[in-house]
Amino acid sequence: VHTAKITRHQVEIYRQSDRDPAELYSLEKDLRVAVANREFVLYYQPKVDIQQGSITSVEALIRWIHPQRGMVSPADFIPLAEDTGLIPQIGDIALEIACLQAKAWLEAGTPLRVAVNVSALQFHQGDYVEQVVDKLRQTGLPPELLELEITESVVMKDVERVKQTMQELHQLGISISIDDFGTGYSSLQYLNLFPIQSLKIDRSFVQSIDSQADRAPIVTTIIAMAQTLGMEVIAEGVETEEQVDFLFKHGCNLVQGFIYFRPMPADQVLEQIMNTQKS
Ligand code: C2E
Ligand code: MG
Ligand code: MG
Ligand code: MG
Repeated sequence: VHTAKITRHQVEIYRQSDRDPAELYSLEKDLRVAVANREFVLYYQPKVDIQQGSITSVEALIRWIHPQRGMVSPADFIPLAEDTGLIPQIGDIALEIACLQAKAWLEAGTPLRVAVNVSALQFHQGDYVEQVVDKLRQTGLPPELLELEITESVVMKDVERVKQTMQELHQLGISISIDDFGTGYSSLQYLNLFPIQSLKIDRSFVQSIDSQADRAPIVTTIIAMAQTLGMEVIAEGVETEEQVDFLFKHGCNLVQGFIYFRPMPADQVLEQIMNTQKS
Protein backbone atom coordinates (compact mmCIF):
# COMPACT_ATOMS: atom_id res chain seq x y z
CA VAL A 1 0.00 0.00 0.00
CA HIS A 2 1.41 3.34 -1.06
CA THR A 3 0.29 5.23 2.02
CA ALA A 4 2.55 3.07 4.18
CA LYS A 5 5.44 5.04 2.75
CA ILE A 6 5.03 8.78 2.60
CA THR A 7 7.61 10.04 0.17
CA ARG A 8 9.18 13.46 -0.10
CA HIS A 9 6.64 14.79 -2.61
CA GLN A 10 3.73 13.60 -0.55
CA VAL A 11 5.16 15.19 2.54
CA GLU A 12 5.39 18.45 0.60
CA ILE A 13 1.77 18.25 -0.43
CA TYR A 14 0.87 17.37 3.12
CA ARG A 15 2.70 20.39 4.52
CA GLN A 16 1.53 22.80 1.86
CA SER A 17 -2.13 22.27 2.39
CA ASP A 18 -2.23 20.82 5.89
CA ARG A 19 -3.67 17.60 4.59
CA ASP A 20 -3.66 14.67 6.96
CA PRO A 21 -2.52 11.25 5.73
CA ALA A 22 -6.12 10.09 5.49
CA GLU A 23 -6.89 12.91 3.12
CA LEU A 24 -3.78 12.14 1.10
CA TYR A 25 -4.90 8.54 0.85
CA SER A 26 -8.33 9.65 -0.28
CA LEU A 27 -6.74 11.93 -2.91
CA GLU A 28 -4.70 9.01 -4.20
CA LYS A 29 -7.80 6.85 -4.42
CA ASP A 30 -9.60 9.63 -6.25
CA LEU A 31 -6.68 10.00 -8.64
CA ARG A 32 -6.95 6.34 -9.63
CA VAL A 33 -10.63 6.83 -10.34
CA ALA A 34 -9.80 10.00 -12.27
CA VAL A 35 -7.45 8.08 -14.53
CA ALA A 36 -10.08 5.42 -15.19
CA ASN A 37 -12.78 8.02 -15.85
CA ARG A 38 -10.48 10.46 -17.64
CA GLU A 39 -11.41 13.40 -15.42
CA PHE A 40 -8.82 15.68 -17.04
CA VAL A 41 -8.90 18.65 -19.35
CA LEU A 42 -6.15 20.70 -20.93
CA TYR A 43 -5.83 24.45 -20.80
CA TYR A 44 -3.70 26.14 -23.42
CA GLN A 45 -1.32 29.07 -23.10
CA PRO A 46 0.09 30.66 -26.28
CA LYS A 47 3.79 31.32 -26.81
CA VAL A 48 4.11 34.72 -28.43
CA ASP A 49 6.73 36.05 -30.83
CA ILE A 50 6.63 39.74 -29.92
CA GLN A 51 8.74 40.74 -32.90
CA GLN A 52 6.57 39.00 -35.50
CA GLY A 53 3.34 39.51 -33.60
CA SER A 54 2.57 35.82 -34.02
CA ILE A 55 1.86 32.71 -31.95
CA THR A 56 4.55 30.05 -32.29
CA SER A 57 2.73 27.33 -30.35
CA VAL A 58 0.36 26.74 -27.45
CA GLU A 59 1.40 24.91 -24.29
CA ALA A 60 -1.03 22.32 -22.96
CA LEU A 61 -1.44 22.50 -19.17
CA ILE A 62 -3.41 19.75 -17.48
CA ARG A 63 -6.22 20.26 -14.96
CA TRP A 64 -8.08 17.63 -13.01
CA ILE A 65 -11.82 18.18 -12.81
CA HIS A 66 -12.56 16.49 -9.51
CA PRO A 67 -16.26 15.67 -9.02
CA GLN A 68 -16.32 17.26 -5.53
CA ARG A 69 -13.25 19.46 -5.26
CA GLY A 70 -13.66 21.09 -8.64
CA MET A 71 -10.61 22.07 -10.66
CA VAL A 72 -7.33 20.81 -9.19
CA SER A 73 -4.08 22.35 -10.43
CA PRO A 74 -1.20 20.13 -11.59
CA ALA A 75 1.03 21.33 -8.74
CA ASP A 76 -1.42 19.56 -6.42
CA PHE A 77 -1.53 16.19 -8.15
CA ILE A 78 1.43 15.70 -10.52
CA PRO A 79 3.86 14.98 -7.63
CA LEU A 80 1.36 12.48 -6.19
CA ALA A 81 0.89 10.97 -9.65
CA GLU A 82 4.66 10.54 -9.91
CA ASP A 83 4.96 8.89 -6.51
CA THR A 84 2.10 6.51 -7.12
CA GLY A 85 3.18 5.50 -10.62
CA LEU A 86 0.07 6.98 -12.22
CA ILE A 87 1.97 9.63 -14.17
CA PRO A 88 2.56 7.62 -17.38
CA GLN A 89 -1.19 7.04 -17.70
CA ILE A 90 -1.99 10.67 -16.99
CA GLY A 91 0.71 11.77 -19.42
CA ASP A 92 -0.77 9.47 -22.03
CA ILE A 93 -4.21 11.03 -21.56
CA ALA A 94 -2.71 14.53 -21.85
CA LEU A 95 -0.82 13.61 -25.01
CA GLU A 96 -3.95 12.17 -26.57
CA ILE A 97 -6.16 15.17 -25.79
CA ALA A 98 -3.45 17.56 -27.02
CA CYS A 99 -2.96 15.69 -30.31
CA LEU A 100 -6.72 15.48 -30.93
CA GLN A 101 -7.09 19.20 -30.24
CA ALA A 102 -4.19 20.22 -32.48
CA LYS A 103 -5.61 18.00 -35.21
CA ALA A 104 -9.01 19.71 -34.82
CA TRP A 105 -7.37 23.15 -35.13
CA LEU A 106 -5.53 21.96 -38.21
CA GLU A 107 -8.76 20.78 -39.77
CA ALA A 108 -10.36 24.12 -38.92
CA GLY A 109 -7.69 25.72 -41.11
CA THR A 110 -5.70 27.10 -38.17
CA PRO A 111 -2.61 24.93 -37.69
CA LEU A 112 -1.22 25.48 -34.19
CA ARG A 113 1.67 23.54 -32.75
CA VAL A 114 0.88 22.11 -29.33
CA ALA A 115 3.53 21.77 -26.59
CA VAL A 116 2.98 18.90 -24.14
CA ASN A 117 4.76 18.64 -20.77
CA VAL A 118 6.44 15.28 -20.26
CA SER A 119 7.31 13.87 -16.87
CA ALA A 120 10.77 12.34 -16.42
CA LEU A 121 9.19 9.01 -15.49
CA GLN A 122 7.29 8.84 -18.73
CA PHE A 123 10.16 10.01 -20.90
CA HIS A 124 12.43 7.32 -19.45
CA GLN A 125 10.05 4.48 -20.28
CA GLY A 126 11.69 2.16 -22.77
CA ASP A 127 8.91 2.53 -25.33
CA TYR A 128 8.32 6.27 -25.04
CA VAL A 129 9.01 7.03 -28.72
CA GLU A 130 6.63 4.25 -29.71
CA GLN A 131 3.93 5.71 -27.46
CA VAL A 132 4.30 9.07 -29.17
CA VAL A 133 4.31 7.56 -32.65
CA ASP A 134 1.16 5.58 -31.82
CA LYS A 135 -0.58 8.70 -30.61
CA LEU A 136 0.31 10.62 -33.75
CA ARG A 137 -0.91 7.76 -35.88
CA GLN A 138 -4.17 7.35 -33.95
CA THR A 139 -4.98 11.04 -34.06
CA GLY A 140 -3.58 11.84 -37.48
CA LEU A 141 -1.57 14.80 -36.18
CA PRO A 142 1.52 15.65 -38.26
CA PRO A 143 4.64 15.40 -36.03
CA GLU A 144 5.64 18.97 -36.93
CA LEU A 145 2.65 20.16 -34.90
CA LEU A 146 3.87 18.46 -31.72
CA GLU A 147 6.40 19.87 -29.28
CA LEU A 148 7.53 18.16 -26.08
CA GLU A 149 8.59 20.10 -22.97
CA ILE A 150 11.09 18.22 -20.87
CA THR A 151 12.73 19.45 -17.68
CA GLU A 152 16.46 19.58 -17.13
CA SER A 153 16.34 16.78 -14.58
CA VAL A 154 15.34 14.37 -17.38
CA VAL A 155 18.29 15.36 -19.45
CA MET A 156 20.93 14.69 -16.83
CA LYS A 157 19.89 11.11 -16.19
CA ASP A 158 21.32 8.45 -18.50
CA VAL A 159 22.70 10.85 -21.10
CA GLU A 160 23.23 8.30 -23.89
CA ARG A 161 19.68 6.96 -23.72
CA VAL A 162 18.21 10.43 -23.54
CA LYS A 163 20.23 11.47 -26.56
CA GLN A 164 18.99 8.46 -28.50
CA THR A 165 15.36 9.11 -27.54
CA MET A 166 15.60 12.78 -28.42
CA GLN A 167 17.22 12.02 -31.76
CA GLU A 168 14.44 9.61 -32.67
CA LEU A 169 11.79 12.18 -31.75
CA HIS A 170 13.67 14.90 -33.64
CA GLN A 171 13.97 12.73 -36.75
CA LEU A 172 10.20 12.28 -36.71
CA GLY A 173 9.84 16.07 -36.91
CA ILE A 174 8.86 16.67 -33.28
CA SER A 175 10.33 19.71 -31.46
CA ILE A 176 11.89 19.46 -28.03
CA SER A 177 12.07 22.25 -25.44
CA ILE A 178 13.86 22.29 -22.12
CA ASP A 179 11.41 23.53 -19.49
CA ASP A 180 12.22 25.54 -16.34
CA PHE A 181 15.73 26.08 -17.66
CA GLY A 182 18.22 27.31 -15.08
CA THR A 183 16.71 25.49 -12.12
CA GLY A 184 18.51 22.20 -12.74
CA TYR A 185 22.11 21.39 -13.33
CA SER A 186 22.51 20.96 -17.06
CA SER A 187 26.00 20.65 -18.29
CA LEU A 188 26.48 22.88 -21.32
CA GLN A 189 28.54 20.14 -22.86
CA TYR A 190 25.55 17.78 -22.81
CA LEU A 191 23.06 20.36 -23.97
CA ASN A 192 25.06 20.73 -27.11
CA LEU A 193 24.71 17.02 -27.89
CA PHE A 194 20.91 16.98 -27.92
CA PRO A 195 18.59 18.08 -30.71
CA ILE A 196 16.94 20.79 -28.62
CA GLN A 197 14.89 23.44 -30.34
CA SER A 198 14.42 25.82 -27.43
CA LEU A 199 15.28 26.69 -23.86
CA LYS A 200 12.51 28.03 -21.63
CA ILE A 201 13.89 30.43 -19.04
CA ASP A 202 12.31 29.56 -15.71
CA ARG A 203 9.72 31.96 -14.32
CA SER A 204 11.74 32.57 -11.15
CA PHE A 205 14.52 34.25 -13.17
CA VAL A 206 12.08 36.20 -15.31
CA GLN A 207 10.29 37.54 -12.25
CA SER A 208 13.54 38.68 -10.68
CA ILE A 209 14.19 41.06 -13.61
CA ASP A 210 12.39 43.97 -12.00
CA SER A 211 12.79 42.98 -8.36
CA GLN A 212 16.34 41.68 -8.00
CA ALA A 213 18.68 43.43 -10.39
CA ASP A 214 21.56 41.19 -9.36
CA ARG A 215 19.84 38.16 -10.86
CA ALA A 216 19.15 39.74 -14.23
CA PRO A 217 22.55 38.61 -15.58
CA ILE A 218 21.30 35.02 -15.25
CA VAL A 219 18.61 35.84 -17.80
CA THR A 220 20.97 37.55 -20.23
CA THR A 221 23.44 34.69 -19.88
CA ILE A 222 20.79 32.07 -20.73
CA ILE A 223 19.72 34.13 -23.75
CA ALA A 224 23.31 34.41 -24.98
CA MET A 225 23.94 30.73 -24.35
CA ALA A 226 20.90 29.64 -26.33
CA GLN A 227 21.94 31.84 -29.21
CA THR A 228 25.48 30.48 -29.14
CA LEU A 229 24.14 26.92 -29.20
CA GLY A 230 21.78 27.76 -32.08
CA MET A 231 18.64 27.27 -30.02
CA GLU A 232 15.56 29.39 -29.57
CA VAL A 233 15.02 30.94 -26.17
CA ILE A 234 11.66 31.72 -24.60
CA ALA A 235 10.84 33.38 -21.28
CA GLU A 236 8.04 31.87 -19.19
CA GLY A 237 5.91 33.63 -16.59
CA VAL A 238 6.25 37.11 -18.09
CA GLU A 239 3.92 39.48 -16.25
CA THR A 240 5.17 43.05 -16.68
CA GLU A 241 6.11 45.55 -19.40
CA GLU A 242 9.51 45.95 -17.72
CA GLN A 243 10.18 42.26 -18.18
CA VAL A 244 9.10 42.38 -21.84
CA ASP A 245 11.33 45.41 -22.51
CA PHE A 246 14.31 43.82 -20.80
CA LEU A 247 13.90 40.53 -22.64
CA PHE A 248 13.42 42.17 -26.01
CA LYS A 249 16.42 44.46 -25.49
CA HIS A 250 18.57 41.40 -24.79
CA GLY A 251 17.43 39.45 -27.82
CA CYS A 252 14.66 37.24 -26.41
CA ASN A 253 11.58 37.86 -28.48
CA LEU A 254 9.64 34.73 -27.54
CA VAL A 255 7.58 35.10 -24.40
CA GLN A 256 4.82 33.36 -22.54
CA GLY A 257 2.97 34.77 -19.57
CA PHE A 258 -0.06 36.39 -18.05
CA ILE A 259 0.86 39.73 -19.65
CA TYR A 260 -0.32 38.29 -23.00
CA PHE A 261 -2.40 35.21 -22.29
CA ARG A 262 -3.46 33.13 -19.34
CA PRO A 263 -3.96 29.40 -19.87
CA MET A 264 -7.48 29.00 -21.31
CA PRO A 265 -9.89 26.27 -22.36
CA ALA A 266 -9.52 25.00 -25.92
CA ASP A 267 -12.69 26.66 -27.16
CA GLN A 268 -11.33 30.14 -26.39
CA VAL A 269 -7.97 29.75 -28.10
CA LEU A 270 -8.83 30.63 -31.69
CA GLU A 271 -11.01 33.56 -30.70
CA GLN A 272 -8.37 35.04 -28.39
CA ILE A 273 -5.62 34.62 -30.94
CA MET A 274 -7.73 36.31 -33.62
CA ASN A 275 -8.43 39.22 -31.27
CA THR A 276 -4.72 39.87 -30.70
CA GLN A 277 -3.95 39.76 -34.39
CA LYS A 278 -6.65 42.33 -35.09
CA SER A 279 -5.50 44.81 -32.47
P1 C2E B 1 5.34 24.56 -16.50
O1 C2E B 1 5.33 23.59 -17.63
O2 C2E B 1 6.61 25.28 -16.24
O3 C2E B 1 4.15 25.55 -16.82
C1 C2E B 1 4.12 26.92 -16.48
C2 C2E B 1 3.22 27.18 -15.30
O4 C2E B 1 3.25 28.60 -15.02
C3 C2E B 1 1.75 26.87 -15.55
O5 C2E B 1 1.18 26.48 -14.29
C4 C2E B 1 1.18 28.21 -15.99
O6 C2E B 1 -0.20 28.34 -15.77
C5 C2E B 1 1.96 29.15 -15.12
N1 C2E B 1 2.10 30.49 -15.71
C6 C2E B 1 2.11 30.84 -17.01
N2 C2E B 1 2.29 32.16 -17.16
C7 C2E B 1 2.42 32.68 -15.91
C8 C2E B 1 2.63 34.02 -15.41
O7 C2E B 1 2.76 35.00 -16.14
N3 C2E B 1 2.72 34.15 -14.05
C9 C2E B 1 2.59 33.08 -13.20
N4 C2E B 1 2.67 33.33 -11.90
N5 C2E B 1 2.39 31.82 -13.66
C10 C2E B 1 2.31 31.62 -15.00
P2 C2E B 1 0.25 25.20 -14.16
O8 C2E B 1 -0.70 25.15 -15.32
O9 C2E B 1 -0.31 25.22 -12.78
O10 C2E B 1 1.27 24.00 -14.32
C11 C2E B 1 2.27 23.80 -13.36
C12 C2E B 1 3.24 22.72 -13.78
O11 C2E B 1 2.60 21.45 -13.82
C13 C2E B 1 3.83 22.92 -15.16
O12 C2E B 1 4.89 23.85 -15.13
C14 C2E B 1 4.28 21.50 -15.49
O13 C2E B 1 5.53 21.26 -14.92
C15 C2E B 1 3.24 20.66 -14.79
N6 C2E B 1 2.28 20.16 -15.80
C16 C2E B 1 1.22 20.80 -16.34
N7 C2E B 1 0.58 20.01 -17.24
C17 C2E B 1 1.27 18.83 -17.24
C18 C2E B 1 1.12 17.60 -17.99
O14 C2E B 1 0.24 17.42 -18.83
N8 C2E B 1 2.03 16.61 -17.72
C19 C2E B 1 3.04 16.79 -16.80
N9 C2E B 1 3.89 15.77 -16.61
N10 C2E B 1 3.21 17.93 -16.12
C20 C2E B 1 2.34 18.94 -16.34
MG1 MG C 1 5.95 23.55 -19.51
MG1 MG D 1 8.06 25.88 -17.45
MG1 MG E 1 7.66 26.01 -14.46
